[in-house]
Amino acid sequence: MSTPTDALQRLRRVHEDAVLSALRSAGGLSRAQLTERTGLSRTTMFAIVSGLLERGVVIETEGSAAEPRGRGRPAALVSLNPDAGLLLGLDLGRNRVRLAVANAAHQVVATASADLPEEAGPEEEAESAVRLVRAAAAERGLSLGALEAIGLGLVGVVDEHLPPVPLGGERSAVVPARYLPLAQRLGEEFGVRLAVDNNARLAALAEATWGVARPVRDMVYVRWSVGVGGGFLAGGRLMRGAHGAGGELGHVCLDPEGPPCHCGSRGCLEGHIGGRGLLERCAAQGVRLPALDALVAAAQDRVPAVCEIVASAAADLGRVLAGTVTQLDPALVVVGGELAGLGSLVLDPIREAIAERSLPRSSREIAVVPADLGVNASAMGAIALLLHEEPSIPAHLRPDVP
Ligand SMILES: [Zn+2]
Repeated sequence: MSTPTDALQRLRRVHEDAVLSALRSAGGLSRAQLTERTGLSRTTMFAIVSGLLERGVVIETEGSAAEPRGRGRPAALVSLNPDAGLLLGLDLGRNRVRLAVANAAHQVVATASADLPEEAGPEEEAESAVRLVRAAAAERGLSLGALEAIGLGLVGVVDEHLPPVPLGGERSAVVPARYLPLAQRLGEEFGVRLAVDNNARLAALAEATWGVARPVRDMVYVRWSVGVGGGFLAGGRLMRGAHGAGGELGHVCLDPEGPPCHCGSRGCLEGHIGGRGLLERCAAQGVRLPALDALVAAAQDRVPAVCEIVASAAADLGRVLAGTVTQLDPALVVVGGELAGLGSLVLDPIREAIAERSLPRSSREIAVVPADLGVNASAMGAIALLLHEEPSIPAHLRPDVP
């Protein structure tokens, strides 16, 4: 539920964005120029600039003599601090860790990724993530002393209502036990605030922040890949749910008598249309494929058995989405993940199922579109989490930067 504090924080973020975006396009500006450009009141502008100065996101420099001023000293210019305000987004997938880096102006300035070894343990994952960050920073000349916060996307249920786990010192985190070594390692290594969420939900947030869902406030996102995940945006806010499982489309039950699912239920959508299920159905038709990317390639090559299986799976997904759409009434359904790259082969059956099974108004007005942001969506979403949401981990002290 939205509280007055949430609303104030969101408003402050909107004002900060306006100031940062003006600085990004203009370079240095005086407070008076910023007030004029953003339309904010003088008082609000002074408060916002003070906050940004305090956090080191912007710096103040002497204005040049060219600054049009009648008399006295030229007005101080506010500009983005090139050495501060770095935000990292890390997406820890099943076999890959991905990184996105944003600067103080909230522009994504770098992305990188690394394979995780097969069956990597939590410590190994943590080392890979740290190495990836260090290597990307060295390569792009980014100073990690300017790091402000890290957003972390994880597989599975991420419940911010779990009791915090102490990380040593004054830090604490709310992460699934499986990921505790990663959170601890990142805390030790970088000493900045961490915010954590499910990586499919973060991909939804990224699409709403930088991608195809930017113009809408109500959206259903599904990521169709090895697993099936999702994220719902309602009134412009990401729905986490009461237990951190909001948007888990993959665990909607299709068949109560179906095979058991790792979630504890039976006959889940993920078991039916997720990577493994699709590969098994292809094998049963005599098409043996080693992995999901081979399946996607075979569908692109229009191998008939594969196309049929994918289209029928898309229709199953569409039937589940029709239920979601009927209940949530979004403006947009966004389909991400590798399977979305197959275009009309998957999007048409989804559109048809929604048209058939949801309220007539919905099927006329709800667009079903492919996601925009590709493989870096979750890492970017982890940055969006830092920009939009209050940290799910209590703020902790920044280390002394030499
Ligand atoms: Zn399940």
